[in-house]
Parts: sequence; structure tokens; C-alpha cells
Amino acid sequence: MEAATIFTAVSLMMFANGLVLVLVSRDLPAELRPAANWWQIGTMLIAIGCAVFAFGAPLPRPVMLFGANATMVLGLTAYQAAIQSFCGKRARPVQLLPAAIAISCGLWFSLVTPDFRMRVLAVSAVWDWLMLASIVELRRGSRDTASVSSRILIGIFALVLVYTLFRLAAYLSMGLGPDFALETGSAWPNLVSPIIMTLLPVVGTTAFLLMCSDRLRRQLETAAATDYLTGLPNRRAFSEQAATSFDAARRHADDLAVAVLDIDHFKWVNDTHGHDVGDQALAHVAHCLAEQARDTGMIARTGGEEFTVLLAGLGPAEAIAAVERMLRAVEHAPFDHGLAPVPLTLSAGIAARAGDQTFDEMLRRADNALYRAKHAGRNRLAVSPLPDPVSAPVIAPRREQRLRVGAVG
Ligand code: GH3
Ligand code: MG
Ligand code: MG
Repeated sequence: MEAATIFTAVSLMMFANGLVLVLVSRDLPAELRPAANWWQIGTMLIAIGCAVFAFGAPLPRPVMLFGANATMVLGLTAYQAAIQSFCGKRARPVQLLPAAIAISCGLWFSLVTPDFRMRVLAVSAVWDWLMLASIVELRRGSRDTASVSSRILIGIFALVLVYTLFRLAAYLSMGLGPDFALETGSAWPNLVSPIIMTLLPVVGTTAFLLMCSDRLRRQLETAAATDYLTGLPNRRAFSEQAATSFDAARRHADDLAVAVLDIDHFKWVNDTHGHDVGDQALAHVAHCLAEQARDTGMIARTGGEEFTVLLAGLGPAEAIAAVERMLRAVEHAPFDHGLAPVPLTLSAGIAARAGDQTFDEMLRRADNALYRAKHAGRNRLAVSPLPDPVSAPVIAPRREQRLRVGAVG
């Protein structure tokens, strides 16, 4: 088989793939479309490069070589831009420099001083540079979210990189003349190169699209588990984590506690300052609690103005101390929405793991304890099981609650 025949077949395959990508990328969210557009440009440019090799015989040879080299190296540059865009970075004009070097060297060594070896050396070096840059970017960008598809894409870039080096060594060792043509004939690198070149536009495109869909899946999962107002995990995420932690604590007879925290007189905040200020207050309280709970446990917004904290590994006394710190942190962190400071306090109910069969039983005890804390005057915590009255951990309110109740009118 002739290299030109293979170039014809692979360029058609690449064009078809590029077309599919044009259609599919419309379904991608706006955030991923620039990356898909770059990938599409890369695929089309490499397809054009292969088509020039396949059908460019009637053109003057330097023109044909210039056209094929330029489109292919620009195609690889577009792939690098696609990866960068996927990883949240903007492509910069300076990134065209390697392509400019490859194109200039290609022109020089085919027009001015024809030298096949120097041409293939310069072009291979730039190709490898571009692929290495894409691999590094992909590895860095997907460090926390490495997916099978991103690993496959890294593998394809690495394979093309290694093959380009191997092909360079083969050509250099063949002792070829300055006019050797790599787009015709049946020397093995001439036949294998177009096939290897299809890897990125064809298999790479599939891996790239899967990588996009994996990103979307993760975003949807995060959105489904996150409360939009506070950014904290929501009830659903909390329940899943709590059930797992409860089972583990039961199995290993470990300590576990849960606390339900509810903002006091929050209706008054909304009625007096408006719903928007109420929303800001919720975000403020969530932030304070999250800071306090960072090393202690998982905190979630499980209701309108209700938060739940899972305190894994904490016995009753430690849980009480941790929750008390949280209540005081909110009480002493001023919430100022531009007018007068708005006083905010919380009441909490804590349940330490006792003979509960399910996590829900434990949570119900924490809810009952919260009810008691509210009834005892708010801005305090209560514990379940009930401790003996002497050591009852009732925390006196620091602010006069009645003032606020009075304000409700
Ligand atoms: P208590 O001390 O007994 O807990 O009194 P409270 O006023 O905090 O409790 P109540 O259950 O009477 O009112 C809760 C209020 O929380 C009513 C509701 O409008 C408000 N709320 C719930 N979710 C949101 C929200 O997302 N944003 C705002 N701004 N308010 C909310
Ligand atoms: Mg409340
Ligand atoms: Mg409530």
C-alpha cells in the first residue's frame, strides 16, 4: 500500500470525526464549548494537513510541504489550547511560537536549503514539545479529578510523542537524501505515521468528549449534594455520610455525636431586615460554623435555618465543647449588612451515640434536645441522653433574648 492512499483514508476519517464534534459541541454547556471548539479546530487542521499530503501532488512541492506542515503543527497547537481551556486557562498568542518555529524551519529546509533530515528534526522537536506541554497541562489540571478518559488522552499524547521520537531516529538512521518524500512510497515510517496521526483526531476526540461528560457528571453530583445558598453539603449528602459513619461507629464501637443547630428567632431577622438580609445572615452563619467545624466534623444545611453537624470520634463531653465553640463563634462574629449589626444566636441539641439502632434514632434525640434548648430560653445547648442535673451542660445566654422577642412585637 502507498502512503498517499493511507493519508487519503485517514483524512476522510478525521473530517468525519471533526464534523461529529461540530454537531456534538452544541450540546455542551457554555463553559466547555471553548475547549471543544479548540479541539474541533485542531482536528480539522490535522485533517487538512493529511489531505494536503494525500491530494497535494499537483501543487509545487515546497507549497505542498509548507501547507501540510503548517496545518498539522497548528492543529497540535489548537489541541494544546483545547487542553488549557478545559483546565480553565486562556490560550495566549505566545503559544504560537513553537508552531512558527516549525513552519519557518519547514520552509527553510524545503525551499532555501532542501534538507529532509533537518526538516524532520525541527518539525519532530516542535511536535514533541507541543505534546509534552499538553500532557503536563492535563496531568496538572486533572490532578484532583483524574478520570479514565483523561488518562487515556494522556496515554494517546504520550504514544504520539514516543512514536515521533522513534520515527525521527528511524529517518535519521536511514541516511536519506535531502528530497526524500514522506508522503509517498512504502518506507515503513511513511505508512505508519498517518495511522498514528489519526489517534489524536479520532480516538483522542472520543476521549476528549468523555472527559467533558465526566466533568459534567461531577458538576451535577456536586450540585445535587450542595446547598446553593451557603455552599455547605445539603440534607441528602449529609444523610449519606451520616449513615456510613454511624454504621462504621457501631461496628468499631467508636464515639459518634450529632448536633442540630437552629438560628434563634430567624423569622424576626427576615421580618425586620428583609429576606435578602436573611439569606446573607444564613450564609454568614454557615461560614462561621464551617470554620469551626473544619477539623471537628461534617456540617450541612439540613433545613431553612437549621444546620446539622456530624461529630465522628467525639464523645459527649468533646461534642459539647465543640458545639459550644460553634455557638459562641456565631454569637461573637458580627453580622453587619451595612446598616445596624444584626444579633444572631443559635440553639443546639446534641445526641451522643448510645443504644441507637439507626442514625435517624440518634438524630431524633438531637432534635428533641434542640426543642428543650429552645424552651429553656434559646442561645444554649441541650444534650441527649439527659445528663444528671448537677453536671447539666446548660450554657447561659450571653445576650438578653427577651429584648429580641420583644422586638418581634
Ligand atoms: P426559633 O428561635 O424558634 O427557631 O424561631 P425562628 O423564627 O427561627 O423559627 P421559625 O421556624 O418560626 O422561622 C424560621 C424562619 O426561617 C421562617 C423562614 O421564612 C425562614 N427561612 C427558612 N429558609 C430561609 C431561607 O433560605 N432564606 C431566608 N431568608 N429565610 C429562610
Ligand atoms: Mg429558628
Ligand atoms: Mg428551624
